[in-house]
Order: sequence, then structure tokens, then C-alpha cells
Amino acid sequence: MNPPIVIVGAGQAGLQAAEALRAEGWQGDLILLGEEPHAPYHRPPLSKTYLMGESSAEQLTMRGPDALARKAIDVRTGCRVERIDCAEKIVHLEKDGRLAYHRLVLATGARARPLAGAGLQGVFMLRTLDDCAHIAKAMQQAGEIVVIGGGFIGLEFAAVARKKGKSVTVIEAADRLMARAVADSISEIYARLHIQRGVALRLGSTVAGFTESGGRVTGVVLGDGSTVHADLVIVGIGVIPNQELAAAAGIACESGVIVDANGRTSDPFVFACGDCTAMRLANGSLRRLESVQNAIEQAKACAATIMDKDRPFIAAPWFWSDQYDVKLQMVGTSSGHDASVIRGDISTFKCSIFYFRGPKLIGIDSLNRPQDHMAGRRLLDQGLGLTPQQAADESFALNRLFQPETTAT
Ligand SMILES: Cc1cc2nc3c(=O)[nH]c(=O)nc-3n(C[C@H](O)[C@H](O)[C@H](O)COP(=O)(O)OP(=O)(O)OC[C@H]3O[C@@H](n4cnc5c(N)ncnc54)[C@H](O)[C@@H]3O)c2cc1C
Repeated sequence: MNPPIVIVGAGQAGLQAAEALRAEGWQGDLILLGEEPHAPYHRPPLSKTYLMGESSAEQLTMRGPDALARKAIDVRTGCRVERIDCAEKIVHLEKDGRLAYHRLVLATGARARPLAGAGLQGVFMLRTLDDCAHIAKAMQQAGEIVVIGGGFIGLEFAAVARKKGKSVTVIEAADRLMARAVADSISEIYARLHIQRGVALRLGSTVAGFTESGGRVTGVVLGDGSTVHADLVIVGIGVIPNQELAAAAGIACESGVIVDANGRTSDPFVFACGDCTAMRLANGSLRRLESVQNAIEQAKACAATIMDKDRPFIAAPWFWSDQYDVKLQMVGTSSGHDASVIRGDISTFKCSIFYFRGPKLIGIDSLNRPQDHMAGRRLLDQGLGLTPQQAADESFALNRLFQPETTAT
């Protein structure tokens, strides 16, 4: 009998890989190992509804025990993999010895990037359910909150904290918000949104240290020497891919476990998906995505490849972020655009920005316009042409482009 397929990491990508393997027809044993004490759960609500108190930990669970049992997925929580031996095809567990594998899927995700000197009480990072349970408790007593990092997670947290009536300062080293991921125009819109809702933004500001009393944070010292008072500090300065297991086993890594669009690593029996990866694109560059879509699509690609099918992940990347009552949905990229047009009304946060490189549509960012986002996904995936004039013209229905062409008789 074949050894099991072993999946390391019981998050979005790991569970998706397990379910996709069953859907693709894997009938052997399937073991999903996760170091967290929880069954796989949805991470995106952590910085949104969970911290707001609108969803419980139970509601974040992806599948109940019955659903997992029906698919014969053996989920082992609190089970950390310490080492991989690729030559012997064995994983070594922190507890309970070792497991042989037929194929191995790495879905180890990423961890929050720590800030030097941030080991004080009242300073938190935001990645896991346990992190958020602690933050939710600490937030009850906190009046003044500082968020270090003006990226998606820091800003989602800032929005929740403002909705809870806290005083919030966001400190960002770049001169604009979400600078790694969005165009200047979106940064400006979000700066306006947060300022309107009462957040103090300190752009272009670095953190020099903290003030404390009895081991508890009392403030954040900025590079210009000023101090912002804080009862609670959230550090949201990005993530580090969990690639150490793979790297120690000799699998090629570079800002993530390197995979192709089919989820293959440099070892023919090891596959990888989700936040732990960096995907080699056709032009030779590496792309790192940290998103639910990436975790799901890469996991499906891995499962298909293991079952000898060729279903690469080639769809346009998409992402969303909820801040206050504004849902940002992004598809494709704005990076490298040379023209953009606006559809809708920026002043009411209900618009889409279409990005073009030459005549080619390369990305769309939508604010509270889900219909534009969904149309944009189809446009980009199918490579359909859209002109800037059509994009800007509200009377031009984007879904007209999907209708089959009628031929004149
Ligand atoms: C607060 C927050 C909000 C987010 N919001 C959005 C959003 O709005 N939209 C969006 O698209 N994405 C969002 N994301 C990103 C999205 O959640 C991630 O891209 C997705 O969870 C990645 O899934 P993953 O399975 O690759 O990694 P993870 O979810 O990180 O899961 C990996 C798991 O592997 C475990 N693991 C690691 N090493 C080992 C080991 N050696 N042995 C055993 N287990 C191990 C980890 O503990 C973890 O449980 C958000 C993320 C966070 C943290």
C-alpha cells in the first residue's frame, strides 16, 4: 500500500489541497498536519468581523469534524513538522515520531514580520486566531491605539478600532498607504477615508522605539523624536514566508518556496501552495502573493499535478479588503500602468479605476462596485478588449463584451 499524501500546514491552502486531492480522485490516506491548536479556519475575518465582535471563533472554522471525516481527511492539530527528509520521503514531527509520504504538499503559510524591540506587554502582531483573541481582550481596556504599518491588515484593524470609538494613529514609513500593493490614486482615496473617520495618519514616519512603564508599552517614539501615546500597539509590517522547512531540506527557496504554475518545487515529490510560495512566471520573475485566491488556486494546481493532470494557476490575481463600509476589490495589477480611467464617483467611495498599459487593460481596483470587479475578472481572464472610453462610460455595460457576437446575415 502507498504511504499517505502528507500536507504540512492546516490553513486555507492545506485544506484546499486536501479537498482538491479527493475531488481529483486520490483514494489513499491523506494527512493534514497543523501546528496551531485549531482546525483550519478563515483568516481574513480576523481583522474584520472577528475583532469587531461580529463573528465568533466557531464561525471561522472552515469544516466541521463530520465534513472532514466524510472526505477521510485526517487533520492533526497541534502537530508541528520539524524536518523533512526528501531522500527517505519522511517528515519528522515535533511529537509522535515521523511519517513516510507518497507525495508531500507544503502549505506552511507565512508569519507576521516582527519589529525589533517590540517585546513589551500591549504590543501585538496580528496573524492567528490566538493573536486576535488576545488583541480583542486587550482592546477592551485600551483608549489610545497605535498601528505600525499602513498596509491592508493595519488599516483594517484601524477601521475596526475607530468603529469601536478608540483613538487611532497609523504610522507608516512610506509616503502613502498600502504602497506595496496599490496605485497612488487608491492610496489617496484611503488616506482621505481614514482621515474622515478620525484616524491620525503619520506618513513618512519611522519607529525609533517604545516608551514603557513596568514592561507595558506607553508610547511609540518616532524617528523625528516625537512620541505618540499608546495603550495598545499593533505591528502590521508585512509577513515572512515559512520556507525554513523546505530550505533546510534542500528545496529551492527565494522569498518563498519556489514553485511553477503547477505547484511543483525543485523536488519531484514535493509540492507547495499558498503564502509560503514564490511562483516562477513565464518571464522568469518570481511573484509572491498573499491572498485567499492564490492559496486556493495554487492548492488546486498542486492536487491536479499530483494526480497527473495539467491545470496550472494562470488566472488574474484578485484580492479584497474591507475598511469601514468600503469594500476594495482588486484584480490584475496597477503596476506599470501608463494610463488610468475612473468609472463612478470617487467622492462617495463608489468607483472603479481601470489601469491600461498601452491599449491593454491590466488591472481594475473597485470600491463598492462588485459588479465591475466580477466583470473585470472575466475581462482579464479571457483577454477581452476594453477601451479607456468604454471603461469610463457608465452607460457602456461591461458585460456587453461577454455576449456572443451576432453575425449579420
Ligand atoms: C488578518 C488577516 C486578514 C487577511 N485578509 C485577507 C483578505 O481580506 N483577502 C485575502 O485574499 N487575503 C487575506 N489575508 C491573507 C490570507 O488569509 C492568506 O493569504 C491565506 O490564509 C494563506 O493561506 P495559507 O494556507 O497559505 O497560509 P496560512 O493561513 O498562514 O496557514 C498556514 C498554516 O501552516 C501552519 N504551519 C506552518 N509551519 C508549520 C509546520 N512546520 N508544521 C505544521 N504546521 C505549520 C501555520 O501555523 C498555519 O496554521 C488575510 C490574512 C490575515 C492574517
